[in-house]
Formats: sequence, C-alpha cells, structure tokens
Amino acid sequence: MAGKTRIKDMKDNKCINIPLGVAEKVFQKLGIDTKTSNLMDAKRVIFNLFGLDDPYTKYSSRKKLYEQRLNNAYGIKITDEEMKKFMKLFNLSEEDNFQESIGGRIVSDILNGNVLPNKVTIHPRSSAKHASSSRTKDAIDIASPPDRVQTHGYLILRDTELALHVKRLHRFECQLCGHTIELPDGRRYAESHHIQPLGQPHNGPDVIGNILCVCPNHHAELDYGVPEIFLSRISCTKEHPIEQKYIDYHNLKIHNSTNS
Ligand SMILES: [Zn+2]
Repeated sequence: MAGKTRIKDMKDNKCINIPLGVAEKVFQKLGIDTKTSNLMDAKRVIFNLFGLDDPYTKYSSRKKLYEQRLNNAYGIKITDEEMKKFMKLFNLSEEDNFQESIGGRIVSDILNGNVLPNKVTIHPRSSAKHASSSRTKDAIDIASPPDRVQTHGYLILRDTELALHVKRLHRFECQLCGHTIELPDGRRYAESHHIQPLGQPHNGPDVIGNILCVCPNHHAELDYGVPEIFLSRISCTKEHPIEQKYIDYHNLKIHNSTNS
C-alpha cells in the first residue's frame, strides 16, 4: 500500500491524500468548493496556508475537484521539490512515512485549526484548550506562550482576502485600542482575530462579522479570553458590522471559561 511507504521509497505518484471522510470539512476550512475548484486551486490554497510559495506544477485539467475524486480520498499530486518543502517544514527525514507525515499532518493541522489562513501565528492553545479551566494558570506560569514557540516554518501565513479587507478597513488600527505598528518602510502591521475561533471546538465562521482587526497584545488577550468585550466599545465602521452573537460567544465561552 502506498499509504505505508517511507518517503525515500516513494516513486512518481506522490499525492497528499485527503480522505473522503474528512474532505468536506477540510475543503470547507480552506474555503474551497469542490464543484467549482480544481486540484490546482486546492493545492495553491494549501501551500499558501502553510507559508509555502505557490506550487510549481501546473495542472492543465479543467476538471473540478469532485470529478477527480478517488475511491477513498482526494489525491493532490505534488512534485519532489514540493515534497522536500514539506519535509523541511515538518522536520521530516527520508525514513518517515510519506502519507502519514505529510498528507496526514496537513489534514490534521487544517482540521485542528493549527494553521488558519488569517492568523500570523499558530494558536494551538486557542483551539484546543479554551475549555480547560487550568488555562489561566498555564498562561501565567509560562514565560513564553507555547503558541509563539511552535510556529517555526509557519510564520508567514497569508491572510484570507477577508481578513486583509478587515484590516484595511481599519487602516491596521486595533479595534479595541487604536494602536497600530508602523514598520520602518511605512507599512502598517495588525493581526486579525476571529471572535468565535475557527478551529475546534468553537468552529466559528470566517465571516466579516466575526473578524476583528487587533494589535498583537489584544490578539493574545482575546485568545486567552482575558477581556470581556462590548460592542459599544469596539471601533466599528458601517462596512464592518460586528455581530453581537460572536461577542456573546466570546464572553460566555472564552472569557468566562477563564474565570470558572
Ligand atoms: Zn489593541
């Protein structure tokens, strides 16, 4: 079975397999519609999500994703060069199992929200530990939050168009405090935060009413559920209405779980 093959034994047919059982969820998280997107679209989104340049290969096929589904998975073909990029990113050796450590890793990172298109960093805590009552203690105990440590190789994730749009609407100024970071070249830096987080167990939607443009400090505070937030105190514009239900979610599930 190809599924058990070590990286060094892989021949020509290298595919990132997205098992049918989770494919719908994976593509949903990637913002990909299998009826209108083709393999190349999926590949590009995945590569960008993991901070890699656009893929080298060009698929000329006009077939849509759903038309190329295999028996048990969607197979997204990658080249040797591309495989090497993922090996470097995931710190793999030639002895590692190809499908498990590349395809499997990609799928699980996407499903677990470890890589999110509109985050600059990975936030394993924000997706996995929000429900934990010991989370506040952890946050106090650690000198350097692990979500800032585990990010190597992922750091430059591109924003979704939507998150970038939100930041532009606010001129990269934090909607909670107005702060922006001016870069030496004149550009500005801000981060985007999903009020109801995208990853499990929250499964918030990637919609404009759920996204805030924030400074890195407020981003971390929101991830850790530090502040209770109030719509009336958030800087909003007509083009960017924040929905109260997401604020309620934050205050109830993320802020409150910290205090319980
Ligand atoms: Zn701020």
